[in-house]
This record gives sequence, structure tokens and C-alpha cells, in this order.
Amino acid sequence: MADLSPRRIAGFIEPFRVTPGSKVKLPRDFDPGSGVGRAKASLAKEVLSEGIDLLAEYQARLAAQDTYGVLVVLQAMDAAGKDGTIRHVMSGVNPQGVSVHGFKVPSATELDHDYLWRYARQLPARGQIGIFNRSYYEEVLVVRVHPKILAGQRMPAKSKRGDVWRRRFREINDWERYLTDNGFRIVKLFLNVSKEEQRRRFLARIDEPEKNWKFSANDAKERAFWDDYQKAFADVLSNTSTEWAPWYVIPADDKPFARVAAAGVIANALIEIDPQYPKVSTEARDALAMAKVGLEAEAPAGALPDPVEAELTEKATRKSRKTKTKSRKRKSGK
Ligand code: AMP
Ligand code: MG
Repeated sequence: MADLSPRRIAGFIEPFRVTPGSKVKLPRDFDPGSGVGRAKASLAKEVLSEGIDLLAEYQARLAAQDTYGVLVVLQAMDAAGKDGTIRHVMSGVNPQGVSVHGFKVPSATELDHDYLWRYARQLPARGQIGIFNRSYYEEVLVVRVHPKILAGQRMPAKSKRGDVWRRRFREINDWERYLTDNGFRIVKLFLNVSKEEQRRRFLARIDEPEKNWKFSANDAKERAFWDDYQKAFADVLSNTSTEWAPWYVIPADDKPFARVAAAGVIANALIEIDPQYPKVSTEARDALAMAKVGLEAEAPAGALPDPVEAELTEKATRKSRKTKTKSRKRKSGK
């Protein structure tokens, strides 16, 4: 078990949380550069080294308990680091417990359904962590920035009139509340990159041949809508950060820091869920003890009756020695 205390993680991520009901302006309220150079600061370093272990451990418990699910929603401008964040944050977890889905321009079949349909189909099961690389929030971002996309959605004319966005915010909030009430925790991350850092990363994608594949002419076209996107994002943050599914705005100009911060927010959600391994009944425990006696009796000459038990005792002793040394060092300020 990692030594990082839940309180320290909660404190670390608090500045990124969008207070439900607050009115957000970008970039006024969240500086994309506030993480620059901070990945090496002591608390971030601790979250980096232990957060990934912590995620792996909690994910194992989440799967074993099979009661709660977690949906991680990742939204950002292009080149903000969504892919790298997913790769890094999930590096330690069991791939069987995780699913990642990216959402692109909807297909004809998808457009033949209500706008949440294609996202609902990819929700994680209980015991799973699902990651949405882009999500239903595109329906109030790209669709809002480009009105012709909404015009092309096959809804009745009535559904396109009035304040479509306010209505969609309400529908999304209701849907997220429904999922939360049913045991699915929604963790929403906005990787907040600055316009200048995006310019630099686009240039890297152009200048470095092995990155060329990541760049499309369309990316430059979308960049021209930067201000519209910032406004749309600010409105999303102002209207859909709720007590049950708050947004976290991750300063993303510094990649290492953004990854630590994202790991911290996801770890915090799992800590709050606090999934437990299922309790073994007395009968099952008795059966285990009986089986153990049988296996020990089978030990060949010269072998320990239970080599695993010996290893576990040795490991526990080593761990308690390490913890003691650490706390001694902390006390003496080294
Ligand atoms: P990428 O994730 O960079 O490979 O690009 C996916 C593209 O699909 C982005 O340009 C998104 O804006 C676009 N996209 C995702 N969801 C939707 C949607 N619901 N309607 C229209 N375009 C979308
Ligand atoms: Mg792209």
C-alpha cells in the first residue's frame, strides 16, 4: 500500500476543482501555465511515485468488489496531451479492468439515434474504469462552435430551437446524476493548455517527422476557433460542474505536471469510493484452511511446508522496517 495519505491527495487536487455553481471565465480562472516546473515539487513527486501504485491497488479492489464503476471523461483542445495522459496514468493498472474509447465525428448510424446513445453504449461495467477520450461533452463543444453540425443532426426542428445548450447541460447533468446514483462515479478532466503552448506542440508535430502523423490540416483550422472554444469550455465548466460530478481543470502546459494532477484526481475518486475485497465467509475460510493442511502435507522432503507464508512474513518485516526509516527521516527533516 502506498504511504500517500488521502488527505494529502485531496489537498493537492483541490485547486483544480470547479466549484459547482461558480461562473468560470477562461483563462482568467485557471492558468494553463500554473503547473510549469512544479512536477518536481515534493508533493507532486510523491503523487507521481505513489499515485500510480495506488491506482493499481484500488483498481484491483474495484474489480473484485464489482459494485462500482468509474468513468473518466477527458476533454481538451488539440495537442493538450490527452493520449499521453491516458498512457501514463493507466500504466500500472491491469488492462482487463480498463476500457478506453475515443469519439470522433459520429457515423450515420450514430446520427440516427439520440445524441447520448453512442456514449451510453461504451459506459464501463461495474468493477471497471472506463476512459472517454473526448465524450458527450463534444455535443456542447464542437457542435456549439460549428452550428452546421447541429443543423446536420437529424433531430426534429423543435429540438433545435430555443436554448439548445442550456437544455443539453440539464440533460447531461441529469444523466450523470442517474449514473452516479447507480454506482458509477464520473471523473471529469479538462486538460487546459494555452494557445501559445498549442502553437509550440503543433510546430513540433510538423518539424519532427515521427510526429507528423499526429497533425492534420484540420487541427490548424480548429485553432482559428480558439476563442469560441474557450467560451464554450467556460460555459460547460460553469454549468456542468456538479456536486455529484465536478469538473477538474488540469493545468496542461507542463506535461509531467498534468499527468501527476490527472493521476491525483482519479486516485482521489477511487479513495472516496473505497472499494473493498469481498469478505470471505467462515465456511469458505474453513475450506481454505483445510486445503492448506492438505497442500502442506504434500511438501516433498527438504521443502518448506508453506514457502509462501515464509515469503509473506519476510516481506512484512522488510516493509515495516522501511516505513520506520521513512518516518524517522521525515521527523528529523531529511
Ligand atoms: P481526434 O480526437 O483529434 O482524433 O479528432 C476527433 C475529431 O472528431 C475532433 O475534431 C472532434 O471535434 C470530432 N468530434 C468528436 N465528437 C464529435 C461530435 N459529436 N460531433 C462532431 N464532431 C465530433
Ligand atoms: Mg486531433
